[in-house]
Amino acid sequence: MKSEDYLPTHPEIKKNEAIALRIDDIGASSKFFEIYSKKGKGLGNFLFLKLLPGLRAWGPYREMKASEWQSIIQILRSENAKLTVAITASWVDFSGTLIPFPTKFPEEAAAIKSGVNAGVLEIAIHGLTHCQIENHSFRPKLFRGNRQFHREFLPHLPYEWHLKNLTQAKKILDEYFEFNIDLLIPPGNLFSDNTTRACNQLGIKLINCKTKESQSENVKIISNRNVFAFHDKEVVELGVKWLHNHILKIKTDGHHFCFVSDLAKKSNL
Ligand SMILES: [Zn+2]
Repeated sequence: MKSEDYLPTHPEIKKNEAIALRIDDIGASSKFFEIYSKKGKGLGNFLFLKLLPGLRAWGPYREMKASEWQSIIQILRSENAKLTVAITASWVDFSGTLIPFPTKFPEEAAAIKSGVNAGVLEIAIHGLTHCQIENHSFRPKLFRGNRQFHREFLPHLPYEWHLKNLTQAKKILDEYFEFNIDLLIPPGNLFSDNTTRACNQLGIKLINCKTKESQSENVKIISNRNVFAFHDKEVVELGVKWLHNHILKIKTDGHHFCFVSDLAKKSNL
């Protein structure tokens, strides 16, 4: 589906319901290394053919600039809107080294922090790496796509692994934003009981993704029903105007805006 075709809101949502805008993949190196072809198996995934326009289905694309963040913050303030920002705590470079988001993108991080202080941005954890770094499996493949390696919380990985990654991700983001971040957006909507257990252990109280609402110990799982989720890819490729137009459309449809974490307060769980 092309970004322009996204429905701004869920078809069941009534007027006056709040909508949470959510942007994913901030600081994730998957935008650089996740390369696969729309044609799936076969010629489309052969060597550089994956990168040709028309065959390229995801990356590579650049990180959003600080100036784009500043424009978005202005738009959110003037439209009385809010945005939940799902940040991957570390960029993974080609060698598999992890670089914390505020070190890799200091100006962008500072711009986002100013939006948090202004009350229009909320931070969520979008994993530590977004990808599998063992055996460099995140790297582009010569003859096939690598999408399956750009998911972090794979169900077969043990509890201790989940706990280690989430501990590190939360520490990086908590320290920089000077806030106890308690919201996880699992990359690719993929998480397991081990992820939820690790969240419970770390005081991460909310998980939001494309799933059913539920509750597990102290962790609330919020569906995407009232969430308009998109990626930095849309802003990079279609411009800040693309987001502004969606905000205007959602307002015209009679909705107002809240953060993803505010949805948990309204949930009946
Ligand atoms: Zn993602």
